[in-house]
Amino acid sequence: MAEIKLEHIYKKYDNKFEAVKDFNLDIRDKEFIVFVGPSGCGKSTTLRMIAGLEDISDGGLYIGDRKVNDVAPKDRDIAMVFQNYALYPHMNVYDNMAFGLKLRKFDKQEIERRVKEAARILGLEQLLDRKPKALSGGQRQRVALGRAIVRDPQVFLMDEPLSNLDAKLRVQMRAEISKLHQRLQTTTIYVTHDQTEAMTMATRIVVMKDGVIQQVGSPKQVYDTPDNVFVGGFIGSPAMNFLNGQLEDSHFKMGNIKVKVPEGKLKTLRENGYANKEVVLGIRPEDIHDEPVFIESSQETKITAKIDVAELMGAETYLYSKVADQDFIARVDSRTDIQNGQDVELAFDMHKAHFFNPESEERIK
Ligand code: ATP
Repeated sequence: MAEIKLEHIYKKYDNKFEAVKDFNLDIRDKEFIVFVGPSGCGKSTTLRMIAGLEDISDGGLYIGDRKVNDVAPKDRDIAMVFQNYALYPHMNVYDNMAFGLKLRKFDKQEIERRVKEAARILGLEQLLDRKPKALSGGQRQRVALGRAIVRDPQVFLMDEPLSNLDAKLRVQMRAEISKLHQRLQTTTIYVTHDQTEAMTMATRIVVMKDGVIQQVGSPKQVYDTPDNVFVGGFIGSPAMNFLNGQLEDSHFKMGNIKVKVPEGKLKTLRENGYANKEVVLGIRPEDIHDEPVFIESSQETKITAKIDVAELMGAETYLYSKVADQDFIARVDSRTDIQNGQDVELAFDMHKAHFFNPESEERIK
């Protein structure tokens, strides 16, 4: 069992700058947890505190039932995979994978068994004699994973392991790491600034900003019900649109354009004291439609928009436009050929929309 508990964890650098603030999280056995957030939000610092590479300024860190704040990294039963692979250039693949086991005085046969098994899982059997410089980026990353696997630790910690790979390889390795996790079921904590990696790999995502957790949830929860403007804008690509306006009776009004708010949402807004108040509408680009069938049935939630730019992405097209001087993007099928400068009717699927408080930026729920 490898449950990890972080209780009121703080990291202060130089006794003043708080890089991580009151971080609380229970990580369950076998979970694949992803810490995601922009550069500098404290995700690596948190991971390094779990690894024991960074002191914890305050709070308790538990692996299983054991408080490990003061336990040396080598005694925490974790294996870490870094962004730069950290392979030994003078050793071949076999020795790179065997190194940690030799240090721990495993016997030769056991080392061979474990390295061969990891090489088989990772498709490295033909490369065991090669030095790192004779490997591709993806192969090196696999060796780095192999070195973690042979240790058979309670926990894998991965710090942006794919960021040095090109886009295509990243997608491939993403799937490989997910498969590896399904197979080994080892509790994994994975750090990335890439929301797509977080969405595709995580059992739960921890979204961070400025050293503070913004939301913890499954990819679907975080995507469908973001707790605040930051999470809504960070998770999803292209990002969620945010439009300022006010409620006016049963409508949301932006300048002189109005869209009707569904009953259920109106009720919530009214109960929370937002009747006729300023709010921020959050709507994902895919929830703004141009299909005639949708437009016809959305007489009260459609607008006419002049398309500044229609960006053909292949199967879908991004339409960049403005409503009441505020930018928004719609993501539509590429069936219709829409030209720059054209006026089109777009319908907002208000059932999928969210409302946020303009000051606190929290979702109104
Ligand atoms: P990135 O994706 O860029 O690695 P991150 O979210 O992992 O970002 P951290 O590396 O955890 O961010 O850094 C969090 C904050 O702590 C940053 O503002 C960083 O400048 C600061 N920081 C990190 N290490 C130190 C240090 N040794 N001394 C002082 N400040 C530090």
